[in-house]
Amino acid sequence: MKAVVWQGVNRMGVETVPDPQILQPTDAIVRVTKTAICGSDLHLMDGYVPSMVHGDIVGHEFMGEVVEVGAEVRKVKVGDRVIVPFPIACGKCWYCQKGLTSLCDNSNPNPGLAEKFWGYSPAGLYGYSHITGGYAGGQAQFARTVYADANLYKVPEGLTDEQVLFLTDILPTGYMGAEHCNIHGGDVVAVFGCGPVGLFGIASAFLLGAERVIAIDRFPERLEMARSYGAETINYEEENVFERLREMTGGRGPDSVMDAVGLEAQAHGFLGVADAVKQTTRVLESDRPHALRAAIMACRKGGTVSVPGVYGGLADKIPVGAFMNKGLTMRTGQTHVHRYLDTLTGHIQRGEIDPTRIITHRLSLEEAPHAYEIFKHKHDGCIKCVLDPWADPKDHAPVK
Ligand code: NAD
Ligand code: ZN
Repeated sequence: MKAVVWQGVNRMGVETVPDPQILQPTDAIVRVTKTAICGSDLHLMDGYVPSMVHGDIVGHEFMGEVVEVGAEVRKVKVGDRVIVPFPIACGKCWYCQKGLTSLCDNSNPNPGLAEKFWGYSPAGLYGYSHITGGYAGGQAQFARTVYADANLYKVPEGLTDEQVLFLTDILPTGYMGAEHCNIHGGDVVAVFGCGPVGLFGIASAFLLGAERVIAIDRFPERLEMARSYGAETINYEEENVFERLREMTGGRGPDSVMDAVGLEAQAHGFLGVADAVKQTTRVLESDRPHALRAAIMACRKGGTVSVPGVYGGLADKIPVGAFMNKGLTMRTGQTHVHRYLDTLTGHIQRGEIDPTRIITHRLSLEEAPHAYEIFKHKHDGCIKCVLDPWADPKDHAPVK
């Protein structure tokens, strides 16, 4: 089959690799019909997630049709149309029972590496390095999925692939990011980053009762998309974000602030340069936490900082003094996708969220290297690329 593989830093290629096989009786094989590239994949591409190996199949946002099931799979059947949540739940451990599926105790078969970095190992993730299990990803024509009964989510009749694909990750991620903002009616929420996660964070914040959402980025098309979701916007290259947020909130600051940027935040000035230099060493600092710093500083006293943006290792100059003295709360995590699926599917069915609106490019899997380039550099107005593993590259002109 064809699959997108990591060939080294900044090199994503498409290769012909062996078809996946059932290895455990609880596995299922999915013929992938749609897959997407996530901001988290850029952290792999750029070499900031350790333990990637040349030839690893990437991709954790994928869906398709079940074509084979292992002997112990009961709920999932051949022919089912399913989405595959990116964190893998065993369904039985203490964490899964509590709905904290991205913290599953059993799905990472290499927990030692994660324990070394993080103390304890979170769940295994598809296509996301050997720290999180070394599972082959779903930017491929077929994928082996594990603990099928606990993970594969049957798509209700009448919904298209594009309507449900983002249930695998970014839609629940924006929603959990908003839930973590602890929103009360009348609240003002600020969102750093207007990529797919930030955009769904904005939409979710309104669904959860925010009165105003103020979104921050520097790309005009992303800011425009944020406005189309009802947000007010700040271009951080044109205005002082802290001052502007203070002014827009009557001097008090936003009630909660979301960091939907993560470890590759862009920054000007001394700290931005210092982060970039230190990050090249990986040891002095592996993550560039500029949005996190800004979120902590901008948040009102007693407010909440929500961090859906991914961090991997160590970061420097985090204003812990501001965090402590302002009495802030912070909530974060890889998304517990499973717990949001029924709720979000309902919102899609009732037309309260249209996830397809963020798709700017529909390309074939063969065009993945190009798709990664435009998504990484935000070229050609790219906000979200959906890849079709079975399409002919010629059929797929970029959609504007
Ligand atoms: P993206 O790269 O499309 O979006 C990031 C946006 O942040 C870009 O628009 C960029 O211009 C903006 N940005 C960069 N520096 C900024 C700054 N200093 N201030 C304000 N904006 C800034 O990525 P995405 O797909 O939207 O993902 C965003 C983050 O969410 C990534 O870190 C990704 O890994 C993470 N993520 C987390 C989960 C989870 O489970 N928690 C799931 C999916 C993605
Ligand atoms: Zn993702």
